[in-house]
This record gives sequence, structure tokens and C-alpha cells, in this order.
Amino acid sequence: MIIVMRSEVTPDGPEVTHLRRVAANHASLTTEVRHMQGAERTLTEIHLLGNTAAVPTETFEGLPGVERVVRIKERYRAIGRHAGKAVSPGFDYRGVSFTQDSFHLFAGLCAVDSRESVEATFQALQAVGVTTTRAGAYKPRTSPYDFQGLGQDCLPYVFELAGKYGIKVVAMEVLKPQHLDEIRAALTATGNPTGVMVQIGTRNAQNFELLKEVGQQQDFPVLYKRGMGITLEESLNACEYIAASGNHRIVFALRGVKSNLGDPHRNLVDFAHVPVIRRMTRLPVCIDPSHSVGKKSVDPDGITDVHHVTAQGVIAGANMVLVDVHPFPEKALCDGPQALTLPELAPFVEDVRLVRQAWEQRKKRFSA
Ligand code: PEP
Ligand code: MN
Repeated sequence: MIIVMRSEVTPDGPEVTHLRRVAANHASLTTEVRHMQGAERTLTEIHLLGNTAAVPTETFEGLPGVERVVRIKERYRAIGRHAGKAVSPGFDYRGVSFTQDSFHLFAGLCAVDSRESVEATFQALQAVGVTTTRAGAYKPRTSPYDFQGLGQDCLPYVFELAGKYGIKVVAMEVLKPQHLDEIRAALTATGNPTGVMVQIGTRNAQNFELLKEVGQQQDFPVLYKRGMGITLEESLNACEYIAASGNHRIVFALRGVKSNLGDPHRNLVDFAHVPVIRRMTRLPVCIDPSHSVGKKSVDPDGITDVHHVTAQGVIAGANMVLVDVHPFPEKALCDGPQALTLPELAPFVEDVRLVRQAWEQRKKRFSA
């Protein structure tokens, strides 16, 4: 059971103390207080653990400071929406708001390969008004003989150039806890010119120790990618490790699942799950059309599959798009065939804007 306190209640306030005392009357119950700074409000919740089935919600509903009492429906207690009853607070980071209503395009390099690529990409993003990007420094590759990413060596110029071109948040995958320290150190050394959203890649979707590490720190929000070969339920439970460890600033990303049934795409595109994640969790939802599709095949109307699946995710309410861009895709050291070129960026931004507008209109129609 989750007891949502009114926004003015603080975790160490008298209402919380009183409520915990009432809960203590039930011998089987323990309590856990969780505090979240959301995008629009602060949220203090008291999670009741133990045999709550035997406890009526009325026990807590009338107590001072209580906004509502939510019975737990999903095992993923902290990120779950619990039949629409849990509050979806979202979060702000570096002046950017991430909620189930916000929308951001994270366009950038799958893998950083040179300072020149980074500068050309950031310059192009600035020209189209995009302030959020991706830049892979640590790459989890299928073969040990493939380019593994430039690692910490590229971080100073990535961050410095991000600052120069007005980039507020860089999504960057981490493969081990040491990478968090390296990112932190490089940000400090460059004067914190930008923010980093740390990405947990699909290959680490069930690396529980790594999930706990990114959950125990508060410096960076986390972009969690669903596991490509596990059920959605398993991915949601794995994602719960991040929130259960204390970090509530999470975005859940869909990136396709591994199956030959998705051929000729790299993965079976799963963007029909956008509304499912929005309904089952409190998290903003991201789609990654590049890693889902894996190439830039064009249909008879001249529209690429990357554009098509992006539109499918955005029309379904996605809050974020992670897309690969490269100044010279044919020379990219990782995933070149799926990357948009820089001249393709502005029309892509326009296309996404058009579809997002259509989503806003549909939403209005259905909620009228
Ligand atoms: C990536 O976004 O760079 C990446 C490796 O994606 P995924 O973990 O979804 O394969
Ligand atoms: Mn990639």
C-alpha cells in the first residue's frame, strides 16, 4: 500500500511521524518513506510493507496530510502506476522537464569517434533548436574486435562542446560503476557545462548490480532500455531496482526486441508498447527508432523506416526520441547504416513536430 501525502508535507514532518505511529499498531507492517522532487510538485509517499491486504485503506485515508491511499497492483512498486492511482511526478534536470506529457528529441552520435564529429553534430543540433543529444563513449559491442568507444578520453571535449552549443543534456551509456566516476570527474574538470542522463543499455537490462549503482546515486537521471530478450514484465522489475535503490529520475526506453520475426529490421519494433508503459508505470517513455530498425531503407513514398517507426512511437504518446545522427555515416565506427545525416536532421525534426502535434490533437479528442 502506498500513502501519498499532500505536496506541502515534508518527509520529517509531524504528519509522517503520526502516520508511521498508526501503521506501527499493525504488527505485521513496516514503513518506508520516499521523497521525490517531481517536475511540478514534491511528492512524499509512505510505502507500507507486509500483510497490507488485511488493512483497510480507511485506516489511513482520514489522517492529517494524506492525499490518497493506493493499493499496490504491480510488483514493481516504486515505478508502477497501480491502476492509474499512483502519481506520475516526472522530474526536472538541468532546466529540462521530463514527464509523461513532455517531449524531447535526443539526436546525436551512437558512438563518439572524433572531436570533429561531435562539433559538427552539436552545431547542427543548435541550428535546429535541439538542446538534448546522445553521445556514446562506452560501447557494448557484439565482437571484441569492434570499436569499443573512446571511453573517458573523449569526455572533456564532448562536455566542453556541449556547453559551447547549448546542449543541456547528453544521454550516455555506462557499462560499469567506474564510468559514473569518470563522467563526474570530466564534468567537474570542464566546469559542468552540460548534464548527463546515464543510459543502461539493453545488454545490461538485468545487470542488477549496475542498476543498483545508478539507483544509489543522485547526480544523474537514468535512461533505462528494455531488455531485448526478456519479457516486458521482467524489464519493468529490473527497472524497479533503480527506483528501489533511491533514484526516481528514470525514463523507460523501448528499442525493439530480438526476433527473426522482425526481419528485415534489426529488431522487432515494439512501439505499440508506448501506451502500455505509460499506463503501467509513472515513467516518461522514450523510443529508439535507430536501434530498432537498424538501417535506412526507404518506402515507395520516399519515407525511411526510421521515420515511419518514429512516427508510430510519437503518435502513441512517446515522451522522448533517441535517434542516431552522424556527419558521415559511411565513416562511422558504430551503427553508421542507421544514422541520419546532418542535412536530414531539420526535416526529421519537422516530421516529428508534425506527428507530435497530431498526438496532442488526438489526446484532446479522446479526453474531451
Ligand atoms: C545505444 O543506444 O547506443 C545502444 C547500444 O542501444 P541498445 O542498448 O538499445 O542496443
Ligand atoms: Mn548503436
